[in-house]
Amino acid sequence: MPELPEVEVVRAGIERWVSGRTVAAVEVLHPRAVRRHLAGPDDFAARLAGQRLGVARRRGKYLWLPVEPAAGGVPERAVLAHLGMSGQLLVQPQGSPDEKHLRVRVRFADAAATELRFVDQRTFGGLSLHETVADDPDGLPDVIAHIARDPVDPAFDDDAFHAALRRRRTTIKRALLDQSLISGVGNIYADEALWRTRLHYDRPTATLTGPRTAELLTHIREVLNEALAAGGTSFDSLYVNVNGESGYFDRSLDAYGREDEPCRRCGTPIRRRPWMNRSSYFCPRCQRPPRATA
Ligand SMILES: [Zn+2]
Repeated sequence: MPELPEVEVVRAGIERWVSGRTVAAVEVLHPRAVRRHLAGPDDFAARLAGQRLGVARRRGKYLWLPVEPAAGGVPERAVLAHLGMSGQLLVQPQGSPDEKHLRVRVRFADAAATELRFVDQRTFGGLSLHETVADDPDGLPDVIAHIARDPVDPAFDDDAFHAALRRRRTTIKRALLDQSLISGVGNIYADEALWRTRLHYDRPTATLTGPRTAELLTHIREVLNEALAAGGTSFDSLYVNVNGESGYFDRSLDAYGREDEPCRRCGTPIRRRPWMNRSSYFCPRCQRPPRATA
């Protein structure tokens, strides 16, 4: 499942190779890939033909391309890309052999001789066209209006995030994975940031002080920025591949996946606990459980 850093690599590639181009024709090779476009594949193709695509945007792991309005002003529609488990957006030379799992092809009305392809082996992902949130300059699709900004977004509001944590009766890792509070922090990045902040995953959010929340956000941004830097090497590639490892996992993680290995701070073996159908990795000494549940 691609996370924020992988999706940002794709977004940057799409911005470079697709944004600003006008769609000539859309070919839907498998209707399932556009099933979220309720009016169907023909409508999807007809509505995109002749439209100029704006700057690719991202919120958490959601990626979209605003459709530039012919008369100027803010975008009123946007193409949302769901990458699902195995979806890929590829920019390929026209005429290069079709991928085995090619689902949608977008041809452009220019001389660049490349086309956009959505390839998805399992077809959990797809493309769909949506109305945008009124007056949103980025053309945020209405179906993801409930998704919070991610912490590497300059418009992320740290104070509002802290206030929301204080109000909620929840625990910190649940909050980090709650897309309505903060987006783009997956299971691995949550465990890494909590280890750096010395916070146990079951810590009630109502007990966090302002400085503690600020420290946590700093560590989340560090973890995400390190992953973004590792994934950035593919920015120059014509071939944008979300399945390509971002490189982040080449670097040694501090908590995630390190069960029974010594904590890099104190030497205590890292523990793994089942957590909401996933796992949480933590240092039992650096990240003490909250007293109520100890
Ligand atoms: Zn430790």
